[in-house]
Amino acid sequence: MTAPAQPAPSQPTAPASTPDVVVVDVRDPADTLPPPPGDPAPRGPRVVDLQVRILDENDRRAAVNRELFRARGLRALNFVSSPGAGKTTLLQRTLGTLAPELGCAVLVGDLETANDAQRLRRPGVPVAQITTGGTCHLDASMIQRGLAAIPLDGVRLLFIENVGNLVCPASFDLGENRRITLVSCTEGEDKPLKYPPMFSSAHAVVLTKIDVADAMGFDRALALANIRRAAPQAEVFEVSAKTGEGCDAWCAYLRALL
Ligand code: MG
Ligand code: ZN
Repeated sequence: MTAPAQPAPSQPTAPASTPDVVVVDVRDPADTLPPPPGDPAPRGPRVVDLQVRILDENDRRAAVNRELFRARGLRALNFVSSPGAGKTTLLQRTLGTLAPELGCAVLVGDLETANDAQRLRRPGVPVAQITTGGTCHLDASMIQRGLAAIPLDGVRLLFIENVGNLVCPASFDLGENRRITLVSCTEGEDKPLKYPPMFSSAHAVVLTKIDVADAMGFDRALALANIRRAAPQAEVFEVSAKTGEGCDAWCAYLRALL
């Protein structure tokens, strides 16, 4: 007996570039939305081999990016977190403070929509939305394509907002100078212990949404202890992008990178 043919999943429509927002569509045309799990059988172990080759190639491209950043005298920061931890909101606040005083640019990755690029655009700040389709992380080649889409003259700080995902972005070097891992007070205090690579690979960890910590019954001291355990190498910041609490120290850290 043969199994019925799998219905072809549809390819979603990428958001189009508008005069306001550059959209860089890096989706593989062969990618489709995944069907529910189950039959047909998942792919076999050759996926592991592919992953190794992809990472080799990625590391080469990341080195190219890092050299480009060095040659241009800019610093690139890769913001990673689970979805909804407040990456875009922190960047809005950060751009509000820093963009008037020094050149800033933004690459923002999402599976679909240009919503975050819309939120981050402001006069004098080049922004490109990288639309990944099914891919749950940014890689170094996507950054190369994003960089080619925006003007970089005068840019001193390049903010890269990764796809919201606390797992595999840790494995993809983008060539960034600093990796910033966010965790919010609306998440569990034990997130740093559950997702070690994202914290162990961070230069800095930002605990966000501290304005709602008490209302959420969030144990800030426990969360900070867990952050220090999972990321002993990282500088730690506690901020509320909504009220501005902690943002002076955060922006001082960014200025000191230059
Ligand atoms: Mg976002
Ligand atoms: Zn991924």
